[in-house]
Amino acid sequence: MKKRDLRNLGLAELEEFALELGLQRYRGRQLFHWVYGKCVDSLEMMTDLSKESRELLSENACISSLLEIRTQVSSDGTKKILFKLEDSHTVESVLIPDEDRLTLCISTQVGCGMGCTFCLTGKDGLVRNMKSSEIVNQVLLVQKGLQARRGITNIVIMGMGEPLSNYNNVTKAIEILKHPLGPAIGARRITLSTAGLVPGIKKLGECSLNINLAISLNASTDEQRNLIMPINEKYPLKNLLDACRKFPLRKGRMLSFEYVLLEGVNDSPDDARRVSKLLKGLHCKINLIPFNEFPGSTYKRPSDGAVFKFQEILTDHNYSVFIRKSRGRDILAACGQLREKINLPFEQ
Ligand code: SF4
Repeated sequence: MKKRDLRNLGLAELEEFALELGLQRYRGRQLFHWVYGKCVDSLEMMTDLSKESRELLSENACISSLLEIRTQVSSDGTKKILFKLEDSHTVESVLIPDEDRLTLCISTQVGCGMGCTFCLTGKDGLVRNMKSSEIVNQVLLVQKGLQARRGITNIVIMGMGEPLSNYNNVTKAIEILKHPLGPAIGARRITLSTAGLVPGIKKLGECSLNINLAISLNASTDEQRNLIMPINEKYPLKNLLDACRKFPLRKGRMLSFEYVLLEGVNDSPDDARRVSKLLKGLHCKINLIPFNEFPGSTYKRPSDGAVFKFQEILTDHNYSVFIRKSRGRDILAACGQLREKINLPFEQ
């Protein structure tokens, strides 16, 4: 019988697994705490289980991990970590220190099938969905490598892949990350960013995860968005924004709209005015992201003047608008620059 990977099981599944092995149900809870809370990699370390139970487990279970192949540190302190998965594919996570936060950006797919034209990750399409264990392991491994006094405070699910097209594994991973017996990262400190998969947004709104939602908007008309983000042909702006209007927001929370500014494409004052109309009535903030150029990219980064003008128009319409500092630009760790291949120029 193939050994079960404990890191691929949620709490209820671990309880079931304990019963299957003839152990008591509460042993599943202990396993959960060891595997996700105490983050052990060996069954031998589970000292509150009897020797017999540990032997039984080692015959039937294992604990997966990821192999850290490289960590690059940017001049601004941002770290990009390249992980190798079991089948030799690689994914990246980015750790972003700020004054009072330590944010980890995690990946959910190998490659991405959304085909956004400004994004390096999506260039080669989708390879496969990541398992929940692979999603959670990014957090556990990075956390383990940190000094105890400064742990990860925030998780953004904005790395490689479209999280809502790997819905089951991503939501299972979030359940685990939130759990008090696991990494215990609060729901308000977890943000999922989507390119706009409307059915996924609806489903996420109906479940009980209560995490923050960010939408990658990036255009002010359907025509423009169809060109930049092909997913818009299936779920045009009206459908997307309707789903956003229906998304339940907890007290004190707001939606985030991400807007990558591309010179001469979506960065004009008219675009800003149209965005302001589109988002009317939504309780939201807007993050402007001046495009991060990468080798071979056809788009250009707008001038600072154009970025400030865009911000000013939206601010004048009473939106909270932030210009996102590009972090890790020198190591291609910035938004839209993650790519799984290990033969990129910066890694040679
Ligand atoms: S921007 Fe996000 S959704 Fe679009 S191709 Fe890149 S990784 Fe996929």
